[in-house]
Amino acid sequence: MSVAGVRGVVVDKELIDQLVEVAQRVVASGAISANGHGNVSLRVPGAHEMYFTAGPSLRNHAPSAVVRLGLDGTLLEGDLPPIQGAVVAMHTAMYEDHPDVGCVLHTHSPYATAYAVAHRPIGCWVEALAMFGLPTGVPVAEYGPRGSEQAVGNIRAATIPGVPAVLLANHGVLVFHRTPELAIQVGSIVEEAAQAGINAGSIGGPVEIPEELRVAAFQRAMVFESRGTAHA
Ligand SMILES: [Zn+2]
Repeated sequence: MSVAGVRGVVVDKELIDQLVEVAQRVVASGAISANGHGNVSLRVPGAHEMYFTAGPSLRNHAPSAVVRLGLDGTLLEGDLPPIQGAVVAMHTAMYEDHPDVGCVLHTHSPYATAYAVAHRPIGCWVEALAMFGLPTGVPVAEYGPRGSEQAVGNIRAATIPGVPAVLLANHGVLVFHRTPELAIQVGSIVEEAAQAGINAGSIGGPVEIPEELRVAAFQRAMVFESRGTAHA
């Protein structure tokens, strides 16, 4: 439901509530650092705008700390603290670049961030990566101060067409997907793959799935997806 906002602009309360719920689900997924740092945004359907979590943490994020921004970075509603304002361009750029993207998720999930800090891509050594659209693994965008033109340029340069995640060197993870559900799922899969990669490091290192079988893993997932839930 849309209601008139304090400045006479239209505020979509449903989208704000949805975004707060998405933040809670990101926290519940466990793919987040202990301090809950990160941010999530949702595209406003049919508008050149997004809703963005401007709170200090995704834990217990208040609806009042959600802001609305134009994809040109203009603040349209709410209060945007400097630390969150710095990363806005990272979100808006993903909506500009990928018209099908409806949700952008950024966290410092610990294992994936370890790869980002080491400037090491995550390889396709966990089947779920192949099944959920990351057969190339997760690339690393070179470092640039968060949200800067340089950082956004590096994200654009590192992004592999069709692959919905990138590691941010010396920072964290960025996931951009059609829906919040898919973004959260990919965030969890990336974290799980990073954890498996680091654990495997002590016993000879992770082994990647042969390229031709990554396609097979995806196709098999699609076949089962198209069948829906089986009932006895
Ligand atoms: Zn961050």
